[in-house]
Amino acid sequence: MYIHGKKTQGKATESIAVLNPATEETLSEAWRGTAADVESAVAAAKSAFDGWRKTPANQRAGMMHQAASNMREHHQELVELLTREEGKPIPENQEEVWWTEETLDYYAELGRHQRGLVLPPGDPAQFNFVLEEPWGVVGCIIPWNYPLLLLAWKLAPALAAGNTVVIKPSEFTPLTTLRMIEVAFDHFPPGVVNVVTGYGVEVGEPLVLHPDVRMIAFTGSLATGQRIATLAAPMMKKLHLELGGKDAMVIGPDVDIKVATRGLAYSALLNAGQVCTSTERVYVHESLYPQFTEELAEFVSSLRLGNGMDEGTDIGPMLRGHFREKVESHVADALKGGARAVVGGGRPTEFDRGFFYQPTVLVDVNHSMKIMSEETFGPVIPLMAYKDFDEAIRLANDSPYGLGASLMSNDPKLVKRFFENVQAGTVWINDPLTDNFAGPFGGMKMSGLGRELGEAGYQEFVQVKHVHWDMEAQVKEYWYPYGKEG
Ligand code: NAD
Repeated sequence: MYIHGKKTQGKATESIAVLNPATEETLSEAWRGTAADVESAVAAAKSAFDGWRKTPANQRAGMMHQAASNMREHHQELVELLTREEGKPIPENQEEVWWTEETLDYYAELGRHQRGLVLPPGDPAQFNFVLEEPWGVVGCIIPWNYPLLLLAWKLAPALAAGNTVVIKPSEFTPLTTLRMIEVAFDHFPPGVVNVVTGYGVEVGEPLVLHPDVRMIAFTGSLATGQRIATLAAPMMKKLHLELGGKDAMVIGPDVDIKVATRGLAYSALLNAGQVCTSTERVYVHESLYPQFTEELAEFVSSLRLGNGMDEGTDIGPMLRGHFREKVESHVADALKGGARAVVGGGRPTEFDRGFFYQPTVLVDVNHSMKIMSEETFGPVIPLMAYKDFDEAIRLANDSPYGLGASLMSNDPKLVKRFFENVQAGTVWINDPLTDNFAGPFGGMKMSGLGRELGEAGYQEFVQVKHVHWDMEAQVKEYWYPYGKEG
């Protein structure tokens, strides 16, 4: 763990094995943190808070730029460790580590350009202004699928705004986070950044419940988000929740089939489909459905499944066996309901180890099937045909989630109808899953509360304070006593 500027075992007596999902071998172990470790980390973060919030923003920015630069010196090491720990192929981890470095630089600059407001006063003697202040100690609870990137989207704005943090990485992927903090954040004042490893119930819940933690920034599943919201509600904590999704992609009638099938394969199979914004439901215009299905099947069949460390691997393993079993249960439910797998549909036979699942294309699916209604989080592409565009939008909106949605089309009328009517926090046209540092990211409906990235992602980490200052200090006629001379 990393508490008050030091690597530590804390009060832990046991460890958790961290597996390589491509080989199922134990890569290393991480300490199984306890509530006592949360206590130490929160105490360290609390003691560092006053100094950090009063550190001039340009000095905070300097330290954050230094952290980005330290990360770049260890870039390849972090990429490889992340690949062994999380499983996705090297090019995807190059991207993740690069994004993390750039996010630190982005918020370093954004933080020092932030300002409050001066308001028109109610009287010439008054001075009214609004300050933006940090919350205090922020608990950052992180999932396993993008351990560094999703941490950076919280850590960077939190630090830039003057908060101190306690990070709870996923029990499946703590190693790269610990290494990143150790190599990149060692020059920060002790206690500003802390990491407690361990399980959700044993470390996450004490963090959520700790009275000195004023804000929880969480990315993970809807079920865990609901649990955190329930625990935090009586204490009126600030919550920032990035939850699950069931993103739709609509294929317009005008597309170039090669471009659309490639874009779809990327958005559905990236990180073996284990992205919160993975395309999980596809609606194809009926005029091109047969040809589209054929070309998609041919392209998906050509992709190479393998160890993420091997050159030429397109798709790595899933993270763990129980996540693969969920995919298997969704596919079995679809096949039972009449769907057909035109590609894949099971475990590959060429590997005797590793949590691999074949990239799969399903046809003849409908919304009564789990594969079209629940988050699958695996490498499966279910295709449905639609007749008219209103029907496609209605189907895309037929989900309790509202994280992202994509359209492949260059018809401006369809594009406008799509982004005006689809209920999703991010809408991608012809370039699914691409983020922008300045573009707010987050969910509508049950996909979450709040936004990451951009100025909106910074504003989550400050609370505003209105200051009303009367500079004349005179008795006011509206004070007591009423109805007689004062
Ligand atoms: P998860 O909810 O199981 O775990 C996320 C984190 O919460 C982990 O660190 C875990 O230990 C911790 N946790 C678990 N139970 C807890 C509890 N009771 N109290 C406090 N903390 C607890 O999610 P996961 O399997 O790690 O990640 C996959 C999920 O994350 C998917 O649903 C995916 O859609 C979602 N996700 C969302 C986004 C987004 O930006 N909206 C991004 C990535 C992943």
